[in-house]
Amino acid sequence: MIIDIHTHLPYDREAAAPLEPLKPTVSSRPDRSTRPRYTWKEFVEVMKPVDRVVVFNIARDPAAAPGPEEFMQPAREVNDSVAEFVKQQGGKFIGFMSVHPRDPNFLQEMDRAYYELGLRGVKLGPNYQNFDPLSEGAFQIYKKAQDLKIPVLFHQGTSPTRFADLDYAHPRHADRIGMAFPDLKIVLAHMGHPWQADCIAVIRKHPNIYADCSALFYRPWSHYNCMRLATEWSVLHKLLFASDCPAAATPEETMAGMRRVNEIIEGTKLPPVPEEAIEEIIHRNSLELLGLE
Ligand SMILES: [Zn+2]
Repeated sequence: MIIDIHTHLPYDREAAAPLEPLKPTVSSRPDRSTRPRYTWKEFVEVMKPVDRVVVFNIARDPAAAPGPEEFMQPAREVNDSVAEFVKQQGGKFIGFMSVHPRDPNFLQEMDRAYYELGLRGVKLGPNYQNFDPLSEGAFQIYKKAQDLKIPVLFHQGTSPTRFADLDYAHPRHADRIGMAFPDLKIVLAHMGHPWQADCIAVIRKHPNIYADCSALFYRPWSHYNCMRLATEWSVLHKLLFASDCPAAATPEETMAGMRRVNEIIEGTKLPPVPEEAIEEIIHRNSLELLGLE
């Protein structure tokens, strides 16, 4: 059983005009061009190698000025389309909601998304959404999620988006969230890259805080380093498989990349990442760990 705990629902239900050609986006992936726009059908196709998939999008800041994040939709629209997609696919996909603490009705929207739409977790990107993850409004979201017994997955770490506040996505903030909401299940995306060491410091002390391994493999030195740090700090069991598809990579590419983690040290005396640990991450039952099964 392979579970991908972090994917984004494409905005294009059908082929929107001719699909965009590959664009060189060195800022997000150093090794190759990416095509972040998929249709729903293409997305389902690239998800074939995995058995279960968590899918979501990020609700926009209601006060956002028009800008590069303009494509982001208000919470209600995001949640409706995720729920529609999940229903259409029947069983394999698990939808998470997204909300914004400055929306006037965000707690009601959480109820609606949970009880009416059947969404089973919360995705937040405080940097993209421009809110302080330690603010009062944010804490109301965590409290509500803890009461509903649903996990929260945060985008963590850097982003090439110029006006997305880096500090809002720093994994150290999860420590305070974990202390305030000890029963809340949390996933820190991308091991907080490039602050993987800080992410490890948090997940090792909080039994309910995990990290996902998406978007790491294509920076081979950084990938090797964080997996070695995770080995030495004994947190390999807290790492969950994820692709961040279509933003970063497909699940197939991610699995292959993770299995190549030790390639970079061939011919050196550097210690390898245990290969069986990589297989355990790929086959980990994240749904059970997050209370989703
Ligand atoms: Zn993502």
